[in-house]
Amino acid sequence: MSVTIAAEPALQIKQFACLADNYGFLIRDPVSGETAAIDTPCVETILGALDGAGWKLTQIWNTHWHPDHTGGNLALKEATGARVIGPKGEAGRIPGLDQAVGQGDQVRLGEKIADVLDTPGHTLGHIAFYFAQDQAAFVGDTLFALGCGRLFEGTAPMMWASLQKLASLPPATQIYCAHEYTLANGRFALDIDPDNQALIARMEEIEQKRRNGLPTVPTTIAAELATNPFLQARLPAFQRRLETTDAISAFAIARQRKDRF
Ligand SMILES: [Zn+2]
Repeated sequence: MSVTIAAEPALQIKQFACLADNYGFLIRDPVSGETAAIDTPCVETILGALDGAGWKLTQIWNTHWHPDHTGGNLALKEATGARVIGPKGEAGRIPGLDQAVGQGDQVRLGEKIADVLDTPGHTLGHIAFYFAQDQAAFVGDTLFALGCGRLFEGTAPMMWASLQKLASLPPATQIYCAHEYTLANGRFALDIDPDNQALIARMEEIEQKRRNGLPTVPTTIAAELATNPFLQARLPAFQRRLETTDAISAFAIARQRKDRF
């Protein structure tokens, strides 16, 4: 006798380029049709993507207050009636906010449920959305392919803790970051971690993708653990190279070097 368990239909994800180097994302629960924009970098592109897919926007989920992430909130809310969900720690700076969320909260997209993770550092209230069952995380400007966000508001220990939180997600988790910065990030990564063979191999793939106009996002936790220089800060050999003996100061040194690179 065999038992068949019906697989739950996967979260639908559409990714598109916006502005100079942002990515916009639309996510949809195929059962209910509930659809969310992750951040709102560009109104026309998002409306066009909705039209093209035949999807109806019902929610906007913001990761942080920066204008290239929230600039389209009001226009999209007006055009679609979407409900805006955003970080508790930046509630006063999120246009059109209906619901403020933080660590420990869950947000619902029809049948799909995402955990909210506090990931401060780039901004103080930055959050990420993690769909455990679909193995996908939308991380805004916290973790990038081969990089991490600049510390505009937070401290190095704060950002390190946020990166560790993301790095502890299952290795297969797909990481949807909000910018295509990978080539520039990779040049820095090779400079600070030149003997990393996985990094060298990955950079060849990345260069080829970019030559062909293909995105390097999403990435995975496994790929970032192996090659992202900011996550290498956890390794004693990398710490020694930067003449330090702990992860947080290795991270802080790497971040400062990248700011000047
Ligand atoms: Zn930002």
